[in-house]
Amino acid sequence: MLIDSHCHLDRLDLTPYDGNLDALLRAARDRGVSRMLCVSIDLPQFEQMYEAVSGYADVDLSVGVHPLHVEESPVTAEQLVELSKRQGIVALGETGLDYYYQTDSKAAQQQCFVEHLKASRSTGLPLIVHTRDARDDTIALIREHGDPQVAGVLHCFTESWQMAEQALELGYYVSFSGIITFRNAEALREVVRQMPMERLLIETDAPYLAPVPHRGKKNEPQYVYEVAQLVAELKGLTLQQVADQTADNYRTLFHRR
Ligand SMILES: [Zn+2]
Ligand SMILES: [Zn+2]
Repeated sequence: MLIDSHCHLDRLDLTPYDGNLDALLRAARDRGVSRMLCVSIDLPQFEQMYEAVSGYADVDLSVGVHPLHVEESPVTAEQLVELSKRQGIVALGETGLDYYYQTDSKAAQQQCFVEHLKASRSTGLPLIVHTRDARDDTIALIREHGDPQVAGVLHCFTESWQMAEQALELGYYVSFSGIITFRNAEALREVVRQMPMERLLIETDAPYLAPVPHRGKKNEPQYVYEVAQLVAELKGLTLQQVADQTADNYRTLFHRR
């Protein structure tokens, strides 16, 4: 059984499925995807997302504000704690720091990340962390404000092995997306080779970043299969072994209440 540990089910292109999310989810299940974590990017969209996907037994949800949405959707730890009490919420995020697309909101991003870290402390919910071109600040904020007993995941990882190692030391998991299948991603494939299997997760980040051979098309959860397949190849494991281990890891990190 495969688990897509990070996707945005409320933002998918449903055109090939005649606008029917049920049909898209069925296509994922038909390829062995047994669970999906639908990740929130800001509060106004959280409400719509919650309404659209919280009824599915095989869909978990998170609540949080993406670092590129902090300015239009500021949030406090108290708000996050309150929203996280809803049925089906298994994590906080995605939060974190993205200095690649946005450098002038650094301070606001950091503050928002700290609110998520505080909410994680008080709820015990793990964090889904988005980090891009912000290695030192991401690790430093987790160290300073994170709860050593409550881990999280660095999602859609594209950084160095050195950063991955620091995350592992903090008890974090590292999640890889279809980016590992891209032709120019050899350095990242090397990080996958080094990553201990018991800390590795897989995801699509759909609708973004479709893996090879679907690159250029809209991504969807069924393509987590291609991510798992490449991880298996890089690790010298079977697809089944990768599916089982990453599903175990998912269940260790995220508990449905
Ligand atoms: Zn992200
Ligand atoms: Zn995402």
